[in-house]
Amino acid sequence: MNLILLGPPGAGKGTQAKRLESGFGLKQLSTGDMLRAAVREGSDVGLQAKAVMDAGKLVSDAIMIKMIEERIAQPDCRNGFILDGFPRTVAQAEGLDEMLERQGLELDAVVQMSVDDEALIKRVVGRFTCASCGAGYNDYFHLPKVEGVCDDCGGTRFDRRADDTEETVRSRLKTFHDQTAPILPYYQDMGILKSVDGMASMDEVFRQIAACLPQEKFARQS
Ligand code: AMP
Repeated sequence: MNLILLGPPGAGKGTQAKRLESGFGLKQLSTGDMLRAAVREGSDVGLQAKAVMDAGKLVSDAIMIKMIEERIAQPDCRNGFILDGFPRTVAQAEGLDEMLERQGLELDAVVQMSVDDEALIKRVVGRFTCASCGAGYNDYFHLPKVEGVCDDCGGTRFDRRADDTEETVRSRLKTFHDQTAPILPYYQDMGILKSVDGMASMDEVFRQIAACLPQEKFARQS
């Protein structure tokens, strides 16, 4: 089963993709994570992407399409994948269709996660993760039980993303509305667009996503 999770920054795509990954053996493909790894490695793509990401703008379609095409051809995607953060433009959606056709694959569902803009800003500006185990926290909604100590693993170092400042989040949201939201009619016309309430609790969002998926395939992979 191959899915797209589509939504603005902070909609919960990464969180839900991880749950779908562990629950159903699908592979989460986060283009944001891939780009951050490229920045850390100092590769050519990373060097080109850094300034664009810090400004809340989009990396070029050609780079992103190539990155995803190489990734979905890997053996760990054979069971199915969840695209998290891709496609972000109509050109990327068209590029995705072409590559899926070349590889004999198809999309089963595109799940739109809707969240109110002001709620998103708090979610994104407040979020941080444990540097050891990746557990997620938030200054406004979910602090560790003991200050400075991860509830899950006891780690004491935490990471914040460089682009999670209020200024960059506002720019990323504008980019989403201007360049990514126009993808929605594209998938609506294909008849595979589903919508869930990204403001609901994490468990409820997961339940709604599961209910959107083709039940026959979902049962087979679970
Ligand atoms: P994310 O982790 O999905 O919020 O992505 C972080 C940043 O990486 C975005 O704000 C963009 O600058 C860049 N990025 C991630 N995915 C894409 C994509 N599909 N197309 C263009 N830029 C992307």
